[in-house]
Amino acid sequence: MKYYILFGPPGAGKGTQAKQIVEKYHYLHLSTGDLLRQEMAAGTELGKKAAELINRGDLVPDEVVEGMIRNKIASNRDVAGFLFDGFPRTIAQAEALDAMLTEFGGKVDAVLSLTLPDELVYERILHRAQIEGRKDDTDRSIIENRIATYHDKTEPLITYYKGHGNYREIEGNDTIENVFAALCGILDE
Ligand code: AMP
Repeated sequence: MKYYILFGPPGAGKGTQAKQIVEKYHYLHLSTGDLLRQEMAAGTELGKKAAELINRGDLVPDEVVEGMIRNKIASNRDVAGFLFDGFPRTIAQAEALDAMLTEFGGKVDAVLSLTLPDELVYERILHRAQIEGRKDDTDRSIIENRIATYHDKTEPLITYYKGHGNYREIEGNDTIENVFAALCGILDE
């Protein structure tokens, strides 16, 4: 069972690439953002609490997303692998994931990190807002908070995973096709 992390700032193209990867490799795509938006759409208690944080551009608590991921891993033992997208986003989540995977007899096989400079993050998110209509994509101050949160809480994971020797960087400022080809190159190794 393979476990891959698709990593990068908001707007780097993780969702777009994840869709293509799971189509080709038949991994299960686990996007914590998508799972949280499903809870919001269904109007669950969790969804209501998450909406407040998400619509400010803040992270939801580690335990919430860790619980979601654990449930999905535990209930899908017959897949070829998992592609995590937007998870982990903090060092605590990364440590929780390592512990979880050890329990399930696996490990993070590779971290596929899409790079993108901040000014392009803005551009991409504002463009996506017109297509997907996400509330957290429309307001400049929310986007700024998401970028600041990324630098503050999520970027330290780069050092964390470099230390584990399975961190791979891919230039995100390229065409969808070229980024996909670079990702497949790594996945096919
Ligand atoms: P995304 O779709 O990955 O951009 O996530 C949208 C929002 O959901 C984020 O800005 C966070 O508020 C929340 N979220 C998604 N994944 C996580 C996570 N792993 N940890 C905490 N919050 C998350």
